Amino acid sequence: MAATTGKTRPNITQNEKLLFELSTPGKRGYQLPPMDVPEVDPAETLGAGNVREEIRDFPEVSEVEVIRHFTRLSTWNYGIDLGLFPLGSCTMKYNPRVNETVARTEGLAWAHPYQPESLSQGAMEIVATLECMLCEIFGMDAVTLQPAAGAHGEFTGIMMVREYLASKGNPRKKVLTPDSAHGTNPATAIIAGYEVANIKSNERGMIDLESLAAAINEDVAALMVTNPNTVGVFEQDIAKICGMLHEKGAQVYMDGANMNALVGIARPGDFGIDVMHSNLHKTFSTPHGGGGPGAGAVGVRSHLEPFLPSPRVKLADGRWTWDYARPQSIGRVRAFYGNFGVLVRALAYILAHGGEGLKKATVDALLTANYVRARLEKRFKIAYDAPSMHECVFSDALQEARGVRTGDVAKRLIDYGFHPYTVSFPLIVHGSMMIEPTETEPKQELDAFCDAMLAIADEIESSPEIVLKAPHNTRTPRVDEVRAARKPRVRWQRE
Ligand SMILES: *Cc1c(COP(=O)(O)O)cnc(C)c1O
Repeated sequence: MAATTGKTRPNITQNEKLLFELSTPGKRGYQLPPMDVPEVDPAETLGAGNVREEIRDFPEVSEVEVIRHFTRLSTWNYGIDLGLFPLGSCTMKYNPRVNETVARTEGLAWAHPYQPESLSQGAMEIVATLECMLCEIFGMDAVTLQPAAGAHGEFTGIMMVREYLASKGNPRKKVLTPDSAHGTNPATAIIAGYEVANIKSNERGMIDLESLAAAINEDVAALMVTNPNTVGVFEQDIAKICGMLHEKGAQVYMDGANMNALVGIARPGDFGIDVMHSNLHKTFSTPHGGGGPGAGAVGVRSHLEPFLPSPRVKLADGRWTWDYARPQSIGRVRAFYGNFGVLVRALAYILAHGGEGLKKATVDALLTANYVRARLEKRFKIAYDAPSMHECVFSDALQEARGVRTGDVAKRLIDYGFHPYTVSFPLIVHGSMMIEPTETEPKQELDAFCDAMLAIADEIESSPEIVLKAPHNTRTPRVDEVRAARKPRVRWQRE
């Protein structure tokens, strides 16, 4: 059992001051030889307007202090290289090192976005090749790699739907989203100028066809659907759903941020989707978390192709070139052509696996999620009685009887050395606990995680206060999250 009091892992619990607090006036991280030329006043030679003011309270520290400070901070990180990262919907999968090796290839790592086309042929071919492979994986006719994130891809996709419908005479008014939708879906619809209407889910966690039928009319521009949806369940009526929308001239957008259950097995284009995105930083293993660069590749069927962001990479007379002559394009959505380094990693991942390998990864992702489900199902209540895909969603109903909620279990997991699962999302599951192990986890790691969850379930029976007061092994005990969100202190002030 994990320790329940602090100070048991002194090397890790050692706290670290801010660099500002470590500062001692006059300390330097470098030494220069004595000056052997006359000193001049920079304001006189450069002009006062060009000289930066001294930065007030800028930390003054020695080299070893800087090195130790950042090295210590680096040991506080929990990352996928350290252990299982079971955040459902986020697909925290391991980033294979071959991706990094390829991304560091000199000609790619140092390519400059303003390099002329003649010197960028290789980079452009990478873009074109990745677009082509994603077309195949998605079952779509064209793909853009410009969007820098999933939400950005959604925005791009819905703007294309808008332009397409406008070109037919009426952009329409509404976007439908199921009540299990990721929050970015309704947000995207609003930003793109649509009203949002919510569609109910049925008791199996799927879209309720009657509610859907009642909501579809000539005002509806699109349905935004995640499949498998955020409760980890495959929308078994998806082809029928697409047909219902198409019949009324509406489009279907698929949020494939996390396509881990589909790649190599089912293609959105084949079940009727018009436009979709997938997060290369989730499904295709490029690093994410901490707000680093991402890529939300967007795929479309041919009727939406003219509306794709400009420019498009194309082959002309045997050379790659950027095509700007696209009169119906929604325009540019990102400087240059997306986050190139992420695109290189995603292509490396796809090529390293090959078609069969990708399919195997998908099957393994399903297997790990269902293994976790099978081990935890007796002690935690599964949210829906439907087959789990790449993630399994529990509710905290059994724990709530003892006064313990999903957030408490998550905090206690930290004491056991695991990153928490996704807490309280999707919103339609009361006290949701959403777990996505991904295909990269070995059985030992899955077992260690399940053992921790089961030990916590035992603790909740015998001494719930341990769980309610967790975490115990962290530098900072439980924080007031509401106050932290409402009144964040983001600026250091001298006391
Ligand atoms: C992560 C996620 C998004 C948003 O992706 P970002 O890259 O964070 O903008 C959208 N939908 C679903 C289902 C997701 O899991």
